[in-house]
Amino acid sequence: AGNLMKGKRGLVMGVANKNSIAWGIAQQLAAQGAELAFSYQGEELEKRVRPLVESLPGEPFMVTADVTDDASMDACFEALKKKWGKMDFLVHAIAFAGKDELQGSFTHNTTREGFKRAMDVSAFSFVDAAKRASAMMPSREEGGGAMISMTYLGSERVVPNYNVMGVAKAALEASTRYIARDLGPLGIRVNAISAGPMRTLAMAGISGGRTLMKTGKDWSMLKEDTRMEGVAGAALYLLSDLGHSCTGEVLHVDAGFHAVGVPDIGEEG
Ligand code: NAD
Repeated sequence: AGNLMKGKRGLVMGVANKNSIAWGIAQQLAAQGAELAFSYQGEELEKRVRPLVESLPGEPFMVTADVTDDASMDACFEALKKKWGKMDFLVHAIAFAGKDELQGSFTHNTTREGFKRAMDVSAFSFVDAAKRASAMMPSREEGGGAMISMTYLGSERVVPNYNVMGVAKAALEASTRYIARDLGPLGIRVNAISAGPMRTLAMAGISGGRTLMKTGKDWSMLKEDTRMEGVAGAALYLLSDLGHSCTGEVLHVDAGFHAVGVPDIGEEG
């Protein structure tokens, strides 16, 4: 525990259960004194999210928000404004693509509807949330604000089965940079964390997820799975004052996997 986030309030979007990356990040931020609000996708998730949220210190609160629904987003941010007036940071850890599209041929399996939906939930939602959250952030003189989104290497390189989600993540990363430029003059920093494969609900939707996890470890520089504490630590860095001067960045936290050109080839016999 520490106080790197003391006096800062923020919204965490995307906790579905205890394995969610958003939850790992939230616990780290809370341990550093942040005051948190959580948005969750819909009523079915409430019973899983509530006990987690209630286990945190302070008075975290919950509000439902479906990012594809403007009215739901309006209500979420109205509730935040009413409760807090201002907020200092935003965590966006939301993505979705249909199971049918997370397998086989990207070219043949991607439908117009599926493409739009992946883009809407996984990329546009960050643009929308950034617009809404930045309107509540303190002025530059008062300290500005910070936001992060979660991405994956499938945006930069071809990863089997990641398909339309890779395209959506490319859009998310580009959006992160454009938002960072718009909000920079306001003293708001905007970054993305590119995490290696982690065992979550979203990961379970990707065909061959287990192989992806294994390869992510075996071919990584550190020869280990991506650890939640590393991802949460990166979030803490980017969202706290430690992250001053860092914006428009995609920070890889994946045990070095992203920089490997060729996996180990052993000794020539
Ligand atoms: P997760 O399933 O726990 O979280 C995904 C969240 O998205 C859920 O809380 C879900 O409710 C939410 N969501 C989906 N559609 C929504 C909608 N219409 N409105 C509101 N919320 C919606 O899985 P996760 O792995 O923690 O995913 C969090 C983020 O991290 C995602 O952006 C994901 O792409 C990214 N990421 C995951 C990995 C990994 O290996 N798990 C790696 C890199 C990046």
